[in-house]
Amino acid sequence: MERLVLARMADGGPEVFASIQGEGVSMGVPSTFVRLAICNLRCAWCDTAYTWDWKRFDRAASTVTLTPDEVAEAVRGLAPRNVVLTGGEPLLQRRQLAPLAERLKGEGYRLEVETNGTVGPGPLGELVDQFNVSPKLAHSGNAGLRRIVPAVLQELAATGRAWFKFVVASPADLEEVREVCRAAGAEPGRVVLMPEGTTAAVLAERGRWLAEACTREGYRFSTRLHILLWGDRRGV
Ligand code: SF4
Repeated sequence: MERLVLARMADGGPEVFASIQGEGVSMGVPSTFVRLAICNLRCAWCDTAYTWDWKRFDRAASTVTLTPDEVAEAVRGLAPRNVVLTGGEPLLQRRQLAPLAERLKGEGYRLEVETNGTVGPGPLGELVDQFNVSPKLAHSGNAGLRRIVPAVLQELAATGRAWFKFVVASPADLEEVREVCRAAGAEPGRVVLMPEGTTAAVLAERGRWLAEACTREGYRFSTRLHILLWGDRRGV
């Protein structure tokens, strides 16, 4: 059976952990997170660069490979019944994720996938309860990379199970948010905006004007709970 490449924790084990969903439409829901390694984008402010940046991090030390059964066993060892497949970009491993998703769905788990919206869900499509799609805006950097793929965004929107989540750094980003939503066919009511920032002070300052913009334009607002509660720490 094909193996999944996950991020590796300092203790050598896979990054599978229980916490609360820190952002987006499920914010606050107790969840088990499964962090996949590897990403096709290179966001300047990425807070999980250890999953893909092999210039800064040693790949062998930063990743671990497991079978879908081994990942399912790690998930069963934790209490939450909402499972979030995150990354990196988890849909790059969609084929290997399908057997894991089948097992977990068969055992009554609810599945969310966090994705940058550049890779379609493939065989995972019907197995996922909620796609948290986070298209990357120009401020992410990603020069020369295809960070917006309208056909994939439309495919995800058409499932009726996708929420579009944007990290917004300045008011000027809002026009780009509108453009991407038009390209995706995403209604404002399925769009969540959250401030960019890795400290409580920055989140509060940017959150204030962003909340006003959401009120005006009909988007949902989300902060980043895990930053407010624990700062920029890993595995919480
Ligand atoms: S898409 Fe996500 S994981 Fe990939 S570089 Fe950007 S923020 Fe990091």
